[in-house]
Amino acid sequence: MLLSQRWGIVHISTGDIFRRAIREQTAEGKVAQPYIAKGQLVPDEVVNDIVASRFRSEDVPREFILDGYPRTAPQARNLDVVLKENHLGLDGVIFLDVDDKEIIKRLAGRWNCPNTACLETFNTFQKIPAVAGVCDSCGSKLIQREDDREDTVRQRLEVFHQVNDALLAHYENQKLLVRVSGKGDIGTIYQDLEKKLSARKSAARET
Ligand SMILES: [Zn+2]
Repeated sequence: MLLSQRWGIVHISTGDIFRRAIREQTAEGKVAQPYIAKGQLVPDEVVNDIVASRFRSEDVPREFILDGYPRTAPQARNLDVVLKENHLGLDGVIFLDVDDKEIIKRLAGRWNCPNTACLETFNTFQKIPAVAGVCDSCGSKLIQREDDREDTVRQRLEVFHQVNDALLAHYENQKLLVRVSGKGDIGTIYQDLEKKLSARKSAARET
């Protein structure tokens, strides 16, 4: 988002594409809607169709940042086809690299207040409740989502890496991959990102 603002180019997030397709009740939107409503992962084919339809619409931007897509190698292959049809290409693919320890800390440290009138969230590493296991705001007993339990997080990470490694390899082969460390605050991350992108741009001009 920060990048699109500073560079003045269109930001297309998968979330926006989905919301638009659902709002306009397009054929693809109708297929995707039930998955999103149930909070389920939308299958590759459905995501691919919906992104492809965005690029068939009348206001296809020539310069854009695609956010949240592709997430898998099959999605990346689909995007290659869609871009080719539109005579578009990618300048780079940014991978924000956050190490597993940090992800486990962020997710597995998360505790939620089950009181529907409160729904406060805590983190045992950053936002620690004054009394362990108890909500500061309403005094309810905190719960941990099944998804956030450390063993579940580790399993999810394992699946993520299997899928993600194939995705990274796809763009590594195309020499498009730009790895940025997700360590530190947003300012530091952004500076590093911009430096790497500028370096790519000037390298591209020289060849
Ligand atoms: Zn509470």
